[in-house]
Amino acid sequence: MRDPALARQTDLCVKCGLCLPVCPTYLKTQDENESPRGRLSLIQGWARTELEADPILKTHIDQCLLCRACETVCPAYVPYGEIVDRFKGETSHKPLATSWASRGRKFLIQKALNRAPGSDLETWMLAAGKSAPLRRLARWMGFGGLLEGLPPPSPWPTSLNPVNAATQKALEVQLFLGCTAGLMDRETVTSILLILERLGISVSIPPNQTCCGALDQHSGQTERAQKAIRQNIAAFSLAEATPPIVSFASGCGAMLIDYERIIKGGSAESFSRRFKEISTFLAAFPWPDGLLRPLDKTICLHTPCSLKNVLHQEQGARQMLQRIPQLKVVDLTPNTRCCGAAGTYMIDHQGMAEALQKDVIDAILQTGASAVVTSNPGCATHLRSGLVARDRGEIEVLHPVTLLARQLLKP
Ligand code: SF4
Ligand code: SF4
Repeated sequence: MRDPALARQTDLCVKCGLCLPVCPTYLKTQDENESPRGRLSLIQGWARTELEADPILKTHIDQCLLCRACETVCPAYVPYGEIVDRFKGETSHKPLATSWASRGRKFLIQKALNRAPGSDLETWMLAAGKSAPLRRLARWMGFGGLLEGLPPPSPWPTSLNPVNAATQKALEVQLFLGCTAGLMDRETVTSILLILERLGISVSIPPNQTCCGALDQHSGQTERAQKAIRQNIAAFSLAEATPPIVSFASGCGAMLIDYERIIKGGSAESFSRRFKEISTFLAAFPWPDGLLRPLDKTICLHTPCSLKNVLHQEQGARQMLQRIPQLKVVDLTPNTRCCGAAGTYMIDHQGMAEALQKDVIDAILQTGASAVVTSNPGCATHLRSGLVARDRGEIEVLHPVTLLARQLLKP
């Protein structure tokens, strides 16, 4: 037996197949190697020393989006995401059946993201996203629609602690930015600061925080992920009665609540316990009357897999948006699956990512909405690039908090 603990976890799967109708990769391929129970069987075979982690087996596992839709329907409560992370961590030294070019792209993306928000590289990438020749070059280099999907350049807030500079308010939050904030979500950061200020909530942004560690954790780089987790735990205040930790990227949130499982012990547990998803936090907060202007528009609500299947907090964004008078919020069809963004998946597995993106874009266009709101910057980037590719770039994709901030009446 190579890994008795992993063998025991995979043994939980009773091969009932209830997960097949919700698995995006199985639905596209009809191949059991691309299904939850198929992947669990492959990992089980490896853990029992019946199979080798050869490039083909590893690639079947890597082609999983980690959307975790399978976990939500599994009667045996198989901890699918945990199993895949562990397998990837233990076989990270073995190659995938992917090209060197693909590995190079992944390396570059991780380098671009693992930087302090507001860096020169981010500013350059945002500007490059508006240049047609550079966008074509990026496509030729295999970066798909990444540059096309970046939001319009927006200034990085010059003062990240504007509220604390004033008098301390009764309520305070600690804001987690994550490595995507500067590149993919600058306007959202500004919007959060604005809304919290108007609600009388102090914000602190711990300066030594870093990437949540999800990209490393889900690509088998366990040590690097743990280093990021420990840095974040040290950066935030975790003593009793310290403020909640608020995050606005649901992909980061799904990782932050997992710190207590990955790093056993008191501080990690305190960190995860303090986590609050921004929309859920704002929806539960009492808002004074007359804060928001009406908006006579129809917008479509996209719910990221991390928000629905991991955080289980999909109602927060809807409840928060219902505060905007006259706004009509429509849903995507109930069978809409993962959009294919999935961290670096949109770069690593472009064929599948674009096929899934197409389905979600079709569903968005069917609603007739003039804008899409989503709570994860990776999904927003992927959806924006899909809309541009269909010549529907006029349909804006934005974070629900950004839409709310735009409707704030002047004090
Ligand atoms: S639903 Fe759960 S138990 Fe059934 S096949 Fe899928 S993973 Fe296995
Ligand atoms: S996490 Fe998503 S893509 Fe992966 S096996 Fe489960 S349902 Fe399929």
